[in-house]
Formats: sequence, structure tokens, C-alpha cells
Amino acid sequence: MKHVKNNILETIGNTPMVRLNKIAEDLPGTILAKVEYFNPGNSVKDRMALKMIEDAEKRGDLKPGGTIIECTSGNTGMGLALAAVTKGYKLICTLSDKQSKEKMDVLKALGAEVRVCPTNVAPEHPESYYSVATRLNEEIENSYYPYQYDNPSNALAHYESTGPEIWEQTEGKITHFVVGVGTGGTISGVGKYLKEKNPNVKIWGIDTYGSLFKKYHETGKVDESEIYSYITEGIGEDIIPKNVNFSVIDAFEKVTDKDGALTTRELALKEGLFLGYSCGSAFQGLRQLKDQLNKDDVVVILFHDHGSRYVGKVYNDDWMRAQGFID
Ligand code: PMP
Repeated sequence: MKHVKNNILETIGNTPMVRLNKIAEDLPGTILAKVEYFNPGNSVKDRMALKMIEDAEKRGDLKPGGTIIECTSGNTGMGLALAAVTKGYKLICTLSDKQSKEKMDVLKALGAEVRVCPTNVAPEHPESYYSVATRLNEEIENSYYPYQYDNPSNALAHYESTGPEIWEQTEGKITHFVVGVGTGGTISGVGKYLKEKNPNVKIWGIDTYGSLFKKYHETGKVDESEIYSYITEGIGEDIIPKNVNFSVIDAFEKVTDKDGALTTRELALKEGLFLGYSCGSAFQGLRQLKDQLNKDDVVVILFHDHGSRYVGKVYNDDWMRAQGFID
């Protein structure tokens, strides 16, 4: 039956592109959203999670009955969980304690073991979510640690699927691509593909306050004074992942935790797009850059994930008040 998918993994990709209307009224040009919550794990990360697993299987790094171990803000874990369930692997995810409880419960629902690690420690600290994953990988026999930050399959997934979809959906008319940056896989894979198709396409990365990306891109230096913990989930880093290909990124823009959160709510109310926190940051970043756009531009903004994982946070008035984001 050619219209039947053989398993949930075959539903990954081919997400819709949706025009932004009311919220984009005061922006010049056409603003289109690549809505990645239509993936089965509700985020763009399903694409790279599956690719990392398939590539590891091909190399022989992941063998039948093996255990996958990953440090993840939740969305990669979800994609890995779908792959693990379907393909018969065990999965252990290390998460930092600032991640939403929903993300942790969802991973558990899909059979993953979750290890919660402190957010406020340096990456090299033995309790950081990176170090705990490394330790588990050493201790557990027949385990595989994809390490999404440096794994080339991450950006490659977006080079092979997300990038071509965006090019085809805009019929090659895209002039700007805007996206939040965490591991850098999405921006680097899509950015490389689009620049190869048309070197004039501008690639803009959205960063948070507390993260090193923007300064590093502009100066080549890690400014420790700009690294501190922040609330926004999924974007910004305190390390430089190998997956960030700075050469395909034209500019970074920083967005505050507050502006990102308020804009996430605005996208739900004005467009009916019930999105994750980093999507609000991405749109706010685009707004901050609007003076660089003109009426003929075709801008694609990629929205990483769904709002369901943020109902206790961005969509919760008490939480928003506690952060001082609303009165
Ligand atoms: N937003 C969210 C919600 C994410 O989970 C991630 C992944 N860390 C990103 C943005 C950034 O994507 P990437 O890792 O591909 O840079």
C-alpha cells in the first residue's frame, strides 16, 4: 500500500511552510515559517536524531541491542526515543535541570531513562550534562554517544532534507533564512545548502543573552563575561560546537529571555501557531533586524518545536510573572 508509512520514522520531514500574516504586518517582504512541529516528535530535531542513528549503524558504532546515550535539551532526546523504540535500542538522556518537566516526562513516556544534571556548572564539571553522558558511555557496554554538538550527521541531516525542502517550497525565491542556534546543526546544514544554490541568500542566526555565539562570530574570541545562565531553552551555548559552521552565517542577533517569551505568546495569539520558546526568540530576532529587509525579500524563519512542552512555563501566567515578564 503505497500511501502507508511503515513506521513512525518514515513520517519525519516534509513539513509545511506557512505564511505569517498579522504578526508580520510591519515587516517588509514576505515572511514564511517552516513549521517543524509537524514532525512526529514535534520538533526539527527528529531529522538529525534519525540521521545520527542511521549513520552510526552504517559505521558499526551502534550494534543491535545497544544503548544510546545523549545530552539533550529534550527535542533531540525525543527524536532519539522514536528511533530507539522503533529500532529496539535503549536510550539514556542527560538533561540540565532548567529544562521543562514536560520534556522530561515525554522522554520517560517513550521509554527513555532521564538523568537530570545541574545547569549552573561549567561544561567540564563532573556533574555537567556533558560529563555525565561521557561517563555513562564509558561505563555501559555496547553504548553509543552521538554527541550532537560535534556529530557531522547533525548538520548533514539539514543539508540533505530541511535545506532542499525550503528551496523547493519557496521555488528558489528565498532571500533570507532566520533560525535559532544551539548545536548549530540546523543553521549550518540549511545555510550551506542554500548558499550553494544561491550565495546571495542571507543566513541569520538567533542567539540569546548569556551565550557566546554572537561575540565569537564577530571577534573570533570567547568572551567569558558574556557567558551566564539564561532561561530560554534550546538556543545559545557556553561551548563552541563543531556543528556551527560560522562561514555560512552572515550575522547573529541576540534576544532577551523576556522578549522571546512574550513573542512566543504573540505568535499563538496572532497566527494560531502554538510554538516553543525559541520560536518566539527567532521571530523577535527577525523583528530586531527588520531595517535590513525590503519589500521584495522572501524570508524563511524556521520554528523548531511545539508549545505543548512549554505549557508550564511560557504559557503559564504564574511562571511568566515569577520571571518578571508580565505584571
Ligand atoms: N530550539 C530548540 C527548542 C531546540 O531544541 C534546538 C536544539 N538545541 C534549537 C532551537 C537549536 O537548533 P540547533 O541545535 O540545530 O542549532
